[in-house]
Amino acid sequence: MAIRRAEAIILRSRDYSESDRLITFFTRSQGQLTGIAKGARRSKKRFVHTLEPLSHVSLTYVDRPTSGLVRIDASELKNAFTSLRSDIARLGYASLGCEVVLEMSPERQANPSLFVLLYHYLEHLEHGADPENSSLLFQTRVLSLCGYAPNLQACVRCGQEMVAGEDWFFSVPQGGLLCRPHRRGPEIYPISPGTVMLLRQAQQLPLTRVWRLRFQRQSREECRSLLINLIRHHLEKDLKSLKLLHQIGAMQ
Ligand SMILES: [Zn+2]
Repeated sequence: MAIRRAEAIILRSRDYSESDRLITFFTRSQGQLTGIAKGARRSKKRFVHTLEPLSHVSLTYVDRPTSGLVRIDASELKNAFTSLRSDIARLGYASLGCEVVLEMSPERQANPSLFVLLYHYLEHLEHGADPENSSLLFQTRVLSLCGYAPNLQACVRCGQEMVAGEDWFFSVPQGGLLCRPHRRGPEIYPISPGTVMLLRQAQQLPLTRVWRLRFQRQSREECRSLLINLIRHHLEKDLKSLKLLHQIGAMQ
């Protein structure tokens, strides 16, 4: 048994038994882990609301080699992101970010860049950044960090490089651009060269500078369904938090 202390973001919290809760969290050093918080349902004192989804905490847990589940012994709140929780749209986009990381990151695989990305994203939402713009940037980066970066250089069928002034398309199942003659198949979206350039920048800029990028109206319309459907395509499942975003009209 190893006692560990790690910075974490809570991704999911579920009832486990009459008194315990099952907490899935994302750490910088060990990636995604799930643990039992004993007595978290009964004794509010022990964890005092530090195990709510989205919270940034410092966790003390025991890693048990015989079990996939760790045992959470203590949790210290570092940032509850209280402000974003008071706004339904920002909360919806924050929940989407946590769910995407939950579904895209394998258990016990460290991905420190993904941890930093999620933390920056929550921090930007907390400080009132445009939630949809932040979410589109987050989604572009997540795809790259999880090994699913879309091909934005040339037509995936013939290799022709993107030329400005022509119509270009993006194929979700093929994960890349298609020139006009090759725009065949399901789930194809028109994409303008300006949007392609923006997405390339969102993939390549250092993280601290990414958040300055702006999706203007056309790029937003082109990417709103494209990016999330690309994520869903790789996950082969739907995302629950999209329902809330649809209900409040934040996403079509
Ligand atoms: Zn082509």
